[in-house]
Amino acid sequence: MEEKYSQKIVIRYTAEIVDQPIVCRLARDYDLDFNILHARVLPKREGVLALDLTGTKKNFDRGIRYLKESGLRVEPLSKSVTRNLDRCVHCGACLAFCSTGALSIDPSTMQVMFDSDRCSGCSICVKACPARAMEINFL
Ligand code: SF4
Ligand code: SF4
Repeated sequence: MEEKYSQKIVIRYTAEIVDQPIVCRLARDYDLDFNILHARVLPKREGVLALDLTGTKKNFDRGIRYLKESGLRVEPLSKSVTRNLDRCVHCGACLAFCSTGALSIDPSTMQVMFDSDRCSGCSICVKACPARAMEINFL
């Protein structure tokens, strides 16, 4: 049996093809399993879809070729996490979840600090933040 291959990708939709059942065809025609990591429709009905795709390497390559031939932009997933300071209330709930030290508390001000250089992009803090101040940006 052929070994399974898995990769996270970002698909960018245009308004013309936003209604087409593109992802369903990945499963039906190329036998690829997919897990939707993120989906967002932008103004003018353009969209961004982040998927974790799994299948044989051959089917994965064929599926990606199909997406590109359908006029979609497909890129490997690359993401960064940022903090929206307008939302952050410095409650500290995120601190215990950050294993890299990117989130820390300044003892002199008791404000929560975010050092993007130390952030691995693991996204654990995104779910942990009750104020939804930690945001994932798909690049
Ligand atoms: S959990 Fe959210 S609101 Fe609280 S300090 Fe962290 S980023 Fe700010
Ligand atoms: S994404 Fe991960 S590494 Fe970055 S601040 Fe959040 S918990 Fe820390």
